[in-house]
Amino acid sequence: MPIGIQDYHTPATLDEALDLLGRYNGSSRVVGGGTDYFVDDARESGGQPPHALIDVTGLQGWQEVRREGDHIVIGCGATHTRIVASPLVQQGAAALMESCGLIGGPQVRNVGTLMGNIAHALPAADGTLSLLALDGEVAVATPGQALAWMPLAQAFRGPGKSAIDSTRQILVAARFRPTGRSEGSAFARVMRPQGVALPIAGLACRVAVQNGTIERAAIAAGPVAPTPFRAARTEAFLRGKPASADSLTEAIPVLLGECTLRTSPHRASAEYRREVLPALLREAMTRALERAARAA
Ligand SMILES: Cc1cc2nc3c(=O)[nH]c(=O)nc-3n(C[C@H](O)[C@H](O)[C@H](O)COP(=O)(O)OP(=O)(O)OC[C@H]3O[C@@H](n4cnc5c(N)ncnc54)[C@H](O)[C@@H]3O)c2cc1C
Repeated sequence: MPIGIQDYHTPATLDEALDLLGRYNGSSRVVGGGTDYFVDDARESGGQPPHALIDVTGLQGWQEVRREGDHIVIGCGATHTRIVASPLVQQGAAALMESCGLIGGPQVRNVGTLMGNIAHALPAADGTLSLLALDGEVAVATPGQALAWMPLAQAFRGPGKSAIDSTRQILVAARFRPTGRSEGSAFARVMRPQGVALPIAGLACRVAVQNGTIERAAIAAGPVAPTPFRAARTEAFLRGKPASADSLTEAIPVLLGECTLRTSPHRASAEYRREVLPALLREAMTRALERAARAA
């Protein structure tokens, strides 16, 4: 444990976790599997470590993936491994299954959580991109306040900057409506494994098809903006177009026109990303359209 951290708590209930957060009054930090937190902590020099860590992976009722009415709900204790293994996710959120299944290696997936992926707020976080394409929402718990659901898109402020203050709030769960009849979703990415995963680009999508026409498309991509990005112009362009390879080819300039592609020294040049992004759009959309056809 990094020097400076005095206490490590493993509360059994959400109430207990909120009580601890309230008592530490900003000097503690919520953690999940620690796969981002401890790596960042080891890299960063300086900065004030929290007095205590509050591990929320053991909260009763928030460790699993479950169905609640129209939604699939994923709790803060659900690891990527558990999400990938969930029949609910396999049937109703193929994009999420694919993205969580690509995160790190088995050791990382066995402890890392989707809530940690979201709270870390990186623009190309794999699980986050799929949840964004699925129109996900997140539940935020703050001591003394009722649990509040908000659209996932509002959870980000900038690269690595979350709207959730992990020293005072808990991201308790995420939820989304699973894909239904004539719907499909998929995720594709290119990355460079170098000890830790260095994403070059990722793209998640969800489509609804009626009589061979794209009725609705949701597309999330990263890193193409300071936060995980919904490609709204590309989505609008594809609406009403035939569910065909030609439509995807026509959509490529629209997608490239609304994404800001940067060169990053350890990952990829902007030019390379410009080549990769269209391929990801084709790959993910083709798979999602095939799934939608099978679900007709
Ligand atoms: C070797 C390696 C490979 C990786 N590969 C990938 C990859 O391919 N794709 C990818 O997207 N990521 C990857 N990651 C990053 C990481 O594993 C994921 O982002 C993971 O989902 C983080 O979850 P966690 O539970 O471990 O988060 P933690 O490390 O516990 O927390 C991350 C941040 O979120 C906050 N936090 C965590 N949970 C909550 C909560 N419930 N409420 C409020 N705040 C919270 C913490 O305070 C911290 O700031 C990799 C990491 C490693 C070490």
